[in-house]
Amino acid sequence: MDSDKRDSRSSAIFDDWNRNDEIRGNFRTKYWTQVCEDCRQQQGLPDEFIEKGSGQGICGVRRCENESDHYYDFDSTELK
Ligand SMILES: [Zn+2]
Repeated sequence: MDSDKRDSRSSAIFDDWNRNDEIRGNFRTKYWTQVCEDCRQQQGLPDEFIEKGSGQGICGVRRCENESDHYYDFDSTELK
């Protein structure tokens, strides 16, 4: 874990996420995480970046420990 990642968690919507550039390939966004259906609705996450039914593990939204339902691609705006 690098310090940049840890620092940005303090005010971020997400507490668990990954950089897309850690894997070779072409991506639409810089980061990805996984979210549950409740958080998708509460955070108003845009459908175009949600891959429904592809979540595995715990929801990446802060203070949420639900099982995730969806995969979510995003850029740094959500990390503030
Ligand atoms: Zn959640």
